[in-house]
Amino acid sequence: MKILLRNIRKKLFKVITILVILGIVFSPSSALAWSGKGHVIITRMAVKLLVDDPSTPAELKAILIEGLGNKNKLNEFEAYINNTNNLRMFDAGLDSFSVRPDDLTASKSPIPAFGINEPLTHYLDTEFFNLDPARQNFLPDGSNKINPTDLPRNPKDKRYLEGGFITFRTEQSYKSLVESLKENYSNDQVFLWIGYLSHYIADSYQPFHSTIDYQGHQCPCNQKREKKHNLHGDLEGLLFEDGSEAGKKNREKFLQYFNQTISRLSENKKQETIDPYLAVVDALLSGYDYLPMLCRAGEVALGKEKLDANLWFNYQEKIADKEISVLQVKAERMAQSAVKLRSLIIQAWNDAQAKKVH
Ligand SMILES: [Zn+2]
Ligand SMILES: [Zn+2]
Repeated sequence: MKILLRNIRKKLFKVITILVILGIVFSPSSALAWSGKGHVIITRMAVKLLVDDPSTPAELKAILIEGLGNKNKLNEFEAYINNTNNLRMFDAGLDSFSVRPDDLTASKSPIPAFGINEPLTHYLDTEFFNLDPARQNFLPDGSNKINPTDLPRNPKDKRYLEGGFITFRTEQSYKSLVESLKENYSNDQVFLWIGYLSHYIADSYQPFHSTIDYQGHQCPCNQKREKKHNLHGDLEGLLFEDGSEAGKKNREKFLQYFNQTISRLSENKKQETIDPYLAVVDALLSGYDYLPMLCRAGEVALGKEKLDANLWFNYQEKIADKEISVLQVKAERMAQSAVKLRSLIIQAWNDAQAKKVH
């Protein structure tokens, strides 16, 4: 009897363990941001911009190429984007460090510097900071958007414990990168902080990371549904998972928009000093402006059962005098974060050199 009980207990334990693992692997995470592949693309593009630039110091180039593992990656964006297999497999170095914060979200890794856990570091629910308590929610017309000055630059402000720490975590990643470059005990540590900086900068450009309503449940298209649809992931991994012919076409268009925006933004080479904290505030609040449009795209693309990816990505409307599609929003926001990351890496390098001298 005892043995039988023990066997049952053992089996039960096994089943529970499997269920827990399945839960971790398949739980819909709100923090996957641009999806693993998206984060890798952003990091590789920032590296490409620096490696292709004759004014980048040779020493920094060497570190970046080592972190990449294989320099050919810089010329294989199309092949990388179109490979819809192994979406959660990443090379060691810069690729895997730029997606690692999402893995740490699943394990709720502590961040002692702020007395919080990893899941809080990927977003800022900005409406918590609306001075009018009645307006601390998302409205589909976007009218509850806050002003940058509504955000106190003080991580001890209790509202951040609910709202999120992406602004402070990004700043901390930047400072850690400067320190790592200055001391450089190991290149791997440098890769880690470049990867983390990339991750959080990129997250801040994802419009759904700036709102309490991060799944788009308050959108009119969702309010009439019994089972709410999560629009968040549709802006992230969906494009890279779509094996259909339409999916491939959309990826082609995406890459075109992405590269066009990179070229346009890179024309202005004048490097201004960037405050990483303010850069994140700016990215979050400029992303907020797209939320009403994303609601309306959901209205068009959401069928009874699921979302039509092709209708979703090609939905377009006029914003600030410019026709823009959801696919373009995605491409432009990702390109903007890659260019910002590029500037932050070179700035961190220069900051580290200046600290070495004095
Ligand atoms: Zn994230
Ligand atoms: Zn996300």
